[in-house]
Amino acid sequence: MTVRTLHLALAATLALLPLLFSTASGKGLDGTIYQVTIDTRTVVNDQLPVEIYVPEVKDDSATFVFPVTIPGTYESHLWWRLVHNFRAFDAQGRPLPVHRSADSQFVISNAKKLRKVTYLLDDSFDDTDDRVSIFHPAGTSFQGDSVFVFNHGGMIGYLDGYQDVEYHVTVYKKPGLYTATSLEISHIDSTTDQYNASSFDILVDGPALICKPDTATFDAAGVKVLVALYHTKDKPIAKAYAKSLKEVTTAIASFLPSMPVDRYAFLLYLWDGDTNDVKRAGFAQGALEHSYSSLYFWRYTSRPFGLNDVAAHEFLHILMPLNLHSREIESFDFRNPQMSRHLWLYEGVTEYFAHQALLRADTAYMRSFNSTMARAARTSFDALPTSFSLIDFSKNVLTTENQSLYPLIYQYGPLNGLCLDILIREESGGKQGLLEVVYALMEEFGPSKPFEDTLLFDQLERVTSKKVRAYCDRYIAGTERLPLAEYLPKIGMTFKDSLPKERLSYGVDFDMKDGDERIMVGPKDSNPLGLVAGDQLMKIDSVDVSMKNPATMTKLFRVTDTPVTLTVLRDGTEVELAGKPVMTTVMEQHVIEQMKDVTPDVARFRRLVLFGRVD
Ligand SMILES: [Zn+2]
Repeated sequence: MTVRTLHLALAATLALLPLLFSTASGKGLDGTIYQVTIDTRTVVNDQLPVEIYVPEVKDDSATFVFPVTIPGTYESHLWWRLVHNFRAFDAQGRPLPVHRSADSQFVISNAKKLRKVTYLLDDSFDDTDDRVSIFHPAGTSFQGDSVFVFNHGGMIGYLDGYQDVEYHVTVYKKPGLYTATSLEISHIDSTTDQYNASSFDILVDGPALICKPDTATFDAAGVKVLVALYHTKDKPIAKAYAKSLKEVTTAIASFLPSMPVDRYAFLLYLWDGDTNDVKRAGFAQGALEHSYSSLYFWRYTSRPFGLNDVAAHEFLHILMPLNLHSREIESFDFRNPQMSRHLWLYEGVTEYFAHQALLRADTAYMRSFNSTMARAARTSFDALPTSFSLIDFSKNVLTTENQSLYPLIYQYGPLNGLCLDILIREESGGKQGLLEVVYALMEEFGPSKPFEDTLLFDQLERVTSKKVRAYCDRYIAGTERLPLAEYLPKIGMTFKDSLPKERLSYGVDFDMKDGDERIMVGPKDSNPLGLVAGDQLMKIDSVDVSMKNPATMTKLFRVTDTPVTLTVLRDGTEVELAGKPVMTTVMEQHVIEQMKDVTPDVARFRRLVLFGRVD
């Protein structure tokens, strides 16, 4: 295995030498930038010391700000709770007065003399005291000599008014650890790395994963891709992950008219279930997007499992919000974040595009595409309050109620993407779809040219039609549920509010209580096995069942036309109940199905919408 870097030039290394020496002596520092030093070798009890030389301040008082959220997470963070012993110093190393003004902010007096701040940081992965509850892909981990996850929003702050100033970060580490990031990095020597960012926003946009290297690189459609993994096993597995991620990247490259990035890094923390380093992970795994990278908290498997959909989604964020976003995201307010109205676009349409890209790369994905849309309708339609509007939800996403609804954006959002795609195709006589419209808007706007949040529908109308605008007003701004019953037949699918379905059933009704490990069951339907309310399920076909291993109960959920024998505990005695399943009728809600026969026109239009072509 070779270890490569995205950016390593001898010239850059040489140019940095004077800077490093000056940092070490504390003199001759550039008073116009932030110079951050993090020495991972001195971590004690997962507490990481941070030292930051700051730009010269013109006022008597300065406020050092830690973010309360970062772009892409759409939730509040309590990182400031992990900051200890925050201190400020003048050029002679004399302490300056500091007090906490708000939870996340430190106010420094005599700020004209301020030269540096120092503090100790706890990490979020193994936080046990409920001080923070941070989505792991946005979190931090400082594990002695094995792994460091640097999400800089949780580690480094900025002086109020000096958010757009350059950062130079020097990281000292034990030999044998490798720093992977999409930021411009120089590996100075075996124990020193330096990476730079032109502003705080850019620094937050570039997480770093530092660990024993298990990396691979590949080129997909001109994009240089780095895959970097952390795991605790000896055997390198990056090649297997790179193979899968190359498929995803290649699928996206052929999906998009042009690739908006020339480099990209997939950073994966593969958790083996050890709760020493990671507390409260549960079954949660996920990823967070950045402009040139995405960071994954994923369960360890030697080959990637369930990663492609998520990787496609994260990668496609290079369209939105990277290349198309509103002012709220362009100049992100880390203290008092103003949320954009357009999560339906950033998350919902991105999720739709992810499935569409995988479908266009492999028609075998059609089944998965259909079942994803069907599941999305089933789970989201009833769960959304009647007053739900995508725009209001997005603007107020940080409220408790909307946080609980948040996962539905990945269900309802892609359905909205599909409807919008159908309408745009129809209105343009097949010439353009949602992807082409996004590209038309990207031409008008861009990474540093945001749109006005309140005027996006005007822009959409400009590149589409009045009818598309009316759709946005009704279904995205308004509270009407998506018109699936009207739109889906146009592409050979149907949507019914409820539909009677014939199902095989053993007539087992589960009656589970939180915190109770027992599997309590009772009768339902025509009860072919003769269950009694209060029976405790012990075995299925003589095999012990357990809540800890739900797979032991698969037979009861995927019913086939075969007899089964259940062993239940009834009044302290084990009883065997045998029988065959019976056909019963259940009413399914919000059902999307494929039509069996479609006209050639519908088949043609379906290909246009889903595949962007008719052949
Ligand atoms: Zn996303």
